[in-house]
Amino acid sequence: MTEDENLEIMLKPLIFRVDEYTPEVVKNVLLERGWNKYTEDVQDVADWNLYWRTSAFRMIDHSNVKPWQRLNHHPGTTRLTRKDYLARHLKRMKGIYGASLYAFSPLTFIMPNDYIKFVAEYSREKEALGTKPSYWICKPAELSRGRGIMIFSDLKDLTFDCATVVQKYISNPLLIARYKCDLRIYVCVASFQPLTIYLYQEGLVRFATEKFDLNNLKNNCAHLTNSSVNKTGASYKKNKEGVGRGCKWTLSKFFTYLRNQDVDDLLLWQRINHLVILTILSIAPSVPSASNCFELFGFDILIDDKFKPWLLEVNVSPGLSLDCSSDVSVKRKLIHDIIELMHFKQTRLRKTKKEPGEASGHGPHGSLTGSDKDRVCETSNHWCKISWAEGKKDRDHETSGQWINISQLGQKNIAYASSRYVSHNKEACISSSIFSLLQGKTYNNDLISLQTKVKDFPKEITAKPREMKASKDSVPPAFPKIRKKQTRFKPFHLVPSSEPCKKKKNVTPYFLSDKGMRPCSHVGDFVLIFPFNEATLAATKNGLDLKKVIHELQKLVNKQPTPEVGDKTKKTQQGILMT
Ligand code: ADP
Repeated sequence: MTEDENLEIMLKPLIFRVDEYTPEVVKNVLLERGWNKYTEDVQDVADWNLYWRTSAFRMIDHSNVKPWQRLNHHPGTTRLTRKDYLARHLKRMKGIYGASLYAFSPLTFIMPNDYIKFVAEYSREKEALGTKPSYWICKPAELSRGRGIMIFSDLKDLTFDCATVVQKYISNPLLIARYKCDLRIYVCVASFQPLTIYLYQEGLVRFATEKFDLNNLKNNCAHLTNSSVNKTGASYKKNKEGVGRGCKWTLSKFFTYLRNQDVDDLLLWQRINHLVILTILSIAPSVPSASNCFELFGFDILIDDKFKPWLLEVNVSPGLSLDCSSDVSVKRKLIHDIIELMHFKQTRLRKTKKEPGEASGHGPHGSLTGSDKDRVCETSNHWCKISWAEGKKDRDHETSGQWINISQLGQKNIAYASSRYVSHNKEACISSSIFSLLQGKTYNNDLISLQTKVKDFPKEITAKPREMKASKDSVPPAFPKIRKKQTRFKPFHLVPSSEPCKKKKNVTPYFLSDKGMRPCSHVGDFVLIFPFNEATLAATKNGLDLKKVIHELQKLVNKQPTPEVGDKTKKTQQGILMT
């Protein structure tokens, strides 16, 4: 293949496939990035790179996926996202690894099976509380957006006519100016085998639009934080003192608020990290194996007045509609960062030469046909050669080893999230392929010569790499002034693999590492939270060694003060209320 032909292929835009429910923001971001939309009549059936849909794929879709393609769902994730399944998995983990490690999930009963157990617990609590009421929440297992939810204190009010969970109602939520809120945290499982989890450093805080009041359990706008519920409430558009208009903040605004109240937001963020990992671990060994897919989860986390995070539920296909400015700033960037995380730049390239000793593709992708192989240039660019030890050397934080540092990196990103946002409109004019080409490291000689060639492109096309560089450089040199020790922290930087692609034997799945390789520590605002050290990396190598991973997590959790005792996060709710 000549250089010109090669260049032509490289410049061909990537193709995304959607269905009628695919969120607009996903389509818009991909178009802005220079992707083309798949059209059945025009393109070949295998001629797309990303298929993004709201509902799950069929197993046949997973088995037919090609090395250059990605699906936005992993099979088997309803284990986490159906409320009753989640409760069952967490209960099993509590049984095996101890209730204290999994104490972040409110006591839950699955109806109708657990009805008798629930009544026993209800009666026990009633007796213990005397005249004080106890509070429960009843939620249909398969519904979302607050539909069918009921809060009750008296057993006679409990009714259900479908699979339902009854859960302890967290009646002491963190209130901001007397409004209840919860956090929507975005988590991308880039791969279940090996388990690779990224936590998004920006997110949303969803507010109830009426003041919290336990004397009126029927007022959904005071007790439920779903925006679909509150959007229709009478106070949605009002400028609510301490919260503002609408019902959402960005997560960075929330953390800034906490810092201003002298709350240890880092500790809170670490607890959220733990919660996310432990939740995903509850299903990780049982999800079916599938390659080239990823899952974006929306974790709903309630913070109580002791700053303890509680997992309420995990959403598959979290809502991506853009209803307010917070949505726009968070969700658009989120999609951009997912695309970056998926590392499409390499998957689009065609392989030009067969290297000596190159095996016919039979990696975890399954076998490749001759034409498939032709279309792939493998790279492990997503994985860094940095060692945890190196990272550690680079940071002089003393307490909890790598975990703390990763958490801190996250916080730093939060603090700077707003200033780091770049206008993605700029990307509209840039072909993803050129972008990838220019961003490319050392792939092979063909690519290097192409890079040279692209240097002569017009300014607006070459603008992207400068922007990329700027966004890397814009990582602030130090933490915001939260505590002194944090200002000494230096994030460990992405170290792209210097290994030329031609040395690879066969198609490398985008997340599977070769020996000594590991996933990048952060991509955009996604920060790697699992694996988090050498031991957990090793524990993912030949299947997931859950016991080992839990052991490592337990060590970290043990180092933290518990929310109840000697909690550094503690700042009285009273104090927050008064602000
Ligand atoms: P849905 O899938 O319908 O959104 P969730 O479990 O997320 O169901 O609950 C909806 C809202 O109800 C949450 O966002 C939160 O405000 C409130 N909520 C749910 N469970 C609890 C709980 N155990 N304690 C306190 N509030 C809860």
